[in-house]
Amino acid sequence: MQGGGQAAALASSPSAAGRSPADGPLAAPIVRLAGVGKRFASGVTALAGLDLTVRQGEFLSLLGPSGCGKSTALRIIAGLADPSSGTVEWSRDTGGGVPGAHDIGFVFQEPTLMPWATVFANVWLPLRLKGVSRHAARAEVVGALSLVGLERFAEAYPRELSGGMKMRVSIARALVTRPRILLMDEPFAALDEITRQRLNDDLLAIKVRLGTTVVFVTHSVFESTYLSTRIVVMAARPGRILETIDVDAPLPRSQGFRTSPLYNAVCEETSRALMAAIATAGDSHL
Ligand code: ADP
Ligand code: MG
Repeated sequence: MQGGGQAAALASSPSAAGRSPADGPLAAPIVRLAGVGKRFASGVTALAGLDLTVRQGEFLSLLGPSGCGKSTALRIIAGLADPSSGTVEWSRDTGGGVPGAHDIGFVFQEPTLMPWATVFANVWLPLRLKGVSRHAARAEVVGALSLVGLERFAEAYPRELSGGMKMRVSIARALVTRPRILLMDEPFAALDEITRQRLNDDLLAIKVRLGTTVVFVTHSVFESTYLSTRIVVMAARPGRILETIDVDAPLPRSQGFRTSPLYNAVCEETSRALMAAIATAGDSHL
């Protein structure tokens, strides 16, 4: 990760793939991965030559078959893993090049709540780790809980909540520090379809309200199309970007979007790209 000089270079970066000048000016970049590779000690090359710029305000989905390096890419953006090659550059606005832990929120597929602690205490945790007292954190914690519709459940324990509610708590915990970028790794994959659609809508409403930039990992064509402003389709062995698809409809979206011609066209294009991604996996050698 680099500081000032390279961060300044980010501001005058070239266009993202798939856009034309008629689309208007691109939003400022937040983070750029350039030539990022990741090779594990086991010999597995999880990523090779990944070039990806995440821009302010976008809802970017990483879509691809299992094993194509989506989680690895997200962990590298989060600073939870180091790339074996290439660079990760943050814009100057994140606070001097390298982001602090609280510029980034991370939501995993499992809610990963502390079972012995109340909802309030679970959401308080990131602030507590920063040294903020329970009393001083109160307004932020209640605010984060109300964003996800759980303000009445502050004193409940995780065992008293449904799967969807636990995921809401996990999202509130990720948002309590008001991160600039929210990274989500298949957060709704274990939920039933109706709960998932409701969380999709609520997530978009929160994203619009807070102006948070989101990078969202999924293997669902429909979910990525519904949520995203841009879909990056990845292929495996080694993990790489195969195609980038813009979804040119404003956020938030409504159930009506699911039956619109644009939604159908993007689903078709995304589905075709995903099929191509799956097909390429057989051609390569680990
Ligand atoms: P995805 O999230 O797209 O399913 P991952 O990023 O989890 O893919 O994994 C990409 C590849 O890297 C897979 O082949 C996986 O087995 C391998 N991999 C992931 N994490 C590790 C690790 N810690 N050690 C060794 N191999 C790993
Ligand atoms: Mg994964």
